[in-house]
Amino acid sequence: MFALVDVNNMYVSCERVFRPALHGKPVVVLSNNDGACIARSNEAKDLGVRMAQPWFEVRHLERTAGLIALSANFELYGDMSSRMMSLAAGFAPRQEIYSIDECFLDFDGVPGDRTAIGRELRRKVLQWTGLPTSVGFGPTKTLAKLANHVAKTADRWPDSYAQMPALSPGSTHSLAQVCDFGRLSPGEVEAAMAATDVGAVWGIGRKTSARLNDGGIRTVLDLVRADLPTLRRQFSVVVEKTVRELRGTPCLEVNDAPEANQQIMCSRSFGVPVTELPDLVEVVSQFTSQVARRAREQGSVAGAVHVFISTSPYRQGDRQHAPSATLPLPQPSADTRVLISAAVRALRCIYKPGFNYAKAGAMLVELQAQAPGLKPGQARQATLDLFEPDAEPEEPQRGRTGQRTDLMSALDALNERFGRQTVAVASAARRATGAAEVARAGETARPSAHASRQQRRSPRYTTRLAEIARARA
Ligand SMILES: [Mg+2]
Repeated sequence: MFALVDVNNMYVSCERVFRPALHGKPVVVLSNNDGACIARSNEAKDLGVRMAQPWFEVRHLERTAGLIALSANFELYGDMSSRMMSLAAGFAPRQEIYSIDECFLDFDGVPGDRTAIGRELRRKVLQWTGLPTSVGFGPTKTLAKLANHVAKTADRWPDSYAQMPALSPGSTHSLAQVCDFGRLSPGEVEAAMAATDVGAVWGIGRKTSARLNDGGIRTVLDLVRADLPTLRRQFSVVVEKTVRELRGTPCLEVNDAPEANQQIMCSRSFGVPVTELPDLVEVVSQFTSQVARRAREQGSVAGAVHVFISTSPYRQGDRQHAPSATLPLPQPSADTRVLISAAVRALRCIYKPGFNYAKAGAMLVELQAQAPGLKPGQARQATLDLFEPDAEPEEPQRGRTGQRTDLMSALDALNERFGRQTVAVASAARRATGAAEVARAGETARPSAHASRQQRRSPRYTTRLAEIARARA
């Protein structure tokens, strides 16, 4: 039996934990550069704000309907996510983190009343983190997802399943917040499926759902009763697998050890165009620090660094330029300094003055697993490179490579404890300009030229000491 735990309206819920006044109000969270709505509270959904709708299209609702828009605060959401995930992990032997706000738990062999366990999980996450969740149980992952959808829908619209003869008036289960398909009779599960749109099924996208509708398949129950060979012919084996899962045959397992990423990238569009090389060096160094940390986290070393910068095709008056370069490393590494030095060299090769750069990115490629016994940041193999001024030959016992590894571990530990960028390689550190001080406490330096246009971002309450929430008594 699988459980799917999902935070309701994750980003908005994270904001509400620290700003309770946002409860009950229509709230949206905007993407980088405040371009589009990427999360909506139920009240904002009720106003008709669509997912990914451009902000300028709904901006008028600020005046007319009290819509509140916030800039994305991914540092806060990521931190809240790990708190929620570690609490959920305590309820079952295996957990697969599926997205920032969703995880599967494998309940096989877990004794006790599942609905009670689901309610306890929900209560604990709510009390310890302030995040509201929904929990769905099902014999397959697709059914657990569907049960979660039912739990959420029944909570939001209490009447949505009440009219179904199979569930009322005899049924004693409440489907809201926690829904366990394992406790419903086959008739009740069918009734829930008949009341749910086929587009709500995990893996059935908007296009497939439109084509299914054309063929007369409108509800989940229609899909479950459809002819498998016909579906495979008209759609794909993926749709066929989905139907098998809906019928109760597991085709997907809990994947608690995802494959290490084959490449790790960090890229961003700038709020304001960047023209000068020093600014780009700073950005690319910061991006490279991030990808280096992620490589160390997953125990990988990179064989090469790829860097790109580009102007914006949307700024029509601008001359366009979008160069990139890949620089192989003399030996695979996850050392931030080695990777930044390579990335900056690549950047200097491709940079041309006179362009309005709108985006930059750094990517680690040719990733490979760290050789066993080596610590993160330590090279798998020492290749003496005569042309590499910083090359450090590996020594049999504890040599400079060991010290370098310890340094990277210390850097990660410091940044983990005191917040990102507490310690950084100098070229990645934000340069204080001394000019305009930002009013918000804790921001001592002017935000860099490339900082995204996040004018409505809330403080990073849980990861920056200077931005911690204040209580007045
Ligand atoms: Mg969610």
